Amino acid sequence: MSKVLVLNATYEPISFVTLKRAVILLLKEKAEVIEALVERQLRAERSSLPYPVVIRLVSYVPVPRFFNLPLSRRSLLSRDNYTCQYCGTTEHPLTIDHVIPRSRGGKTEWTNVVAACVSCNRKKGNKMPADAHMIPRTKPAKPGYIAVVLLGQAKGNETWQRYIRT
Ligand SMILES: [Zn+2]
Repeated sequence: MSKVLVLNATYEPISFVTLKRAVILLLKEKAEVIEALVERQLRAERSSLPYPVVIRLVSYVPVPRFFNLPLSRRSLLSRDNYTCQYCGTTEHPLTIDHVIPRSRGGKTEWTNVVAACVSCNRKKGNKMPADAHMIPRTKPAKPGYIAVVLLGQAKGNETWQRYIRT
């Protein structure tokens, strides 16, 4: 079943819905099409509709922003876009690296862990970032709940990722 990315009236991404649900929102004029597949059309009632990929709600829906996102391997890799934060590879199996090593008192929390490939993780070992000359490309931070969950679901789709990252 195809899914469709829903943006709030403010263009903030809020969820994925089924194609069927998206069509209902469009037919009721509660949403408008932002991105559609050019090569496909949908037949709906008496008219035809563009095949939606991203839609935007016409009126603003309040969304809770302060969910506490648990730190897990999956949510961390999603935050870091499945990319080693030291060398930038996406091709190798990724591990979780403690920026300040655990042996030096570094904690397992959002601001101290990054995705790292096996060889970077090994190279960095128990060294501090400055001693290893390995500084994460993006300063690790606690991510917004919605963005991370949506990015996980948007994996492999550049159109969706473009709307979720901004
Ligand atoms: Zn690496």
